[in-house]
Amino acid sequence: MSNLPRREFLAAAGLAAAAAAAIASKDAAAGDPSFLNNVPDEVLDGAELPTFKFALEKSEGKVIGGSSGKEATVVQLPVSKGIAGVSMRLEPGAMREMHWHATAAEWAFVIEGRVRTTVVDPEGGAETNDFDPGDVWYFPRGHGHMLECLGDSPCHFILIFDNGYFSEFGTFSVTDWIGHVPKALLAKNFGLPESAFDDFPRGEVYFARGAKPPEGPAAPLQGWKPPALTHRYELLKRPPHRTFKGGREWRVDSTSFPIAKTITAVVLDLEPGALRELHWHPTADEWQYVIDGDVEVGMFGSHGRYRAERLAKGDVGYIPQGYGHSIENVGDAPARLLIGFNTGIYATIDLSQWIAGNPPDVLATNFGKPAALFEKFPRKDVFIAPAGEAE
Ligand code: MN
Ligand code: MN
Repeated sequence: MSNLPRREFLAAAGLAAAAAAAIASKDAAAGDPSFLNNVPDEVLDGAELPTFKFALEKSEGKVIGGSSGKEATVVQLPVSKGIAGVSMRLEPGAMREMHWHATAAEWAFVIEGRVRTTVVDPEGGAETNDFDPGDVWYFPRGHGHMLECLGDSPCHFILIFDNGYFSEFGTFSVTDWIGHVPKALLAKNFGLPESAFDDFPRGEVYFARGAKPPEGPAAPLQGWKPPALTHRYELLKRPPHRTFKGGREWRVDSTSFPIAKTITAVVLDLEPGALRELHWHPTADEWQYVIDGDVEVGMFGSHGRYRAERLAKGDVGYIPQGYGHSIENVGDAPARLLIGFNTGIYATIDLSQWIAGNPPDVLATNFGKPAALFEKFPRKDVFIAPAGEAE
């Protein structure tokens, strides 16, 4: 570099920066946000940690009739750059219209009611699935889909997107598109007279309303051509992944649900006083939604920075990749959280596991305490500590 004239050096540096940015965006697009962790983040660079809580269910969102969508993106919660989330409710007969997401995959967990989805993939596959509470879906980025309420009761589900900049209100909806294409072009596209497109919606419908869907799904126009990988996973109908004295955890990642290559999630139950111990995730950001209960989330961000936030039912929390954290049930009732990660493979390092992986002399030197003290520490991963263990 030293023999390059200054102007050429600057041009070369600019190209290198552009190339690095291209690599960063390519990696992020491929669902691996780890590269971006090397780029300074002004939201996290202050003397104090920023808030990592947003009262999602208290927000207004978008309401049409008896259906609504409330979102948490970087606009509502600036720290949440890696993951966005939505709480959506559909009234009976309502449909979240056919759409796709240009910049995010969609993962969902049904809390209440029943939902039917259809989704098409680039291989020509189409799948229709029905979901009960506790079931999960995953749609890869860009795959066209719709969601509709089944039966006579409203439904409620949580959507998780692997991109914090993604807005549910900026999706590519079928009515928005068809409503803005000249009729002559539509007629040519479908081999139909222009009059076939008279009185189509002129803008985005978003929540469509019509007759209640049939109890069993009807065949698509082209007949059935199932996709190679299913988009549906029954999470809570299975036994928990791990159980402890103070709680339990259900987990689903791409090892059990192969299509879900960019999003992993857990349902975490904590008994009153129980603690999901101090830990961090080496490969993913964490997005939390409190289904029930009151918890305190503590976050450690290096440079002596520690911040605790109280999350109640309907609140969202966010922990950036690699940041230390814990979750404690501080209420009188059991707590349940839905936690999403922007990775296809779950990974965690728990503090008790880290301590247990070191010899007593190392711990003695590190903390300046007698080695005998560390003989009393757990010799395994605690993961969830029950209430009442502390003196
Ligand atoms: Mn969607
Ligand atoms: Mn965690």
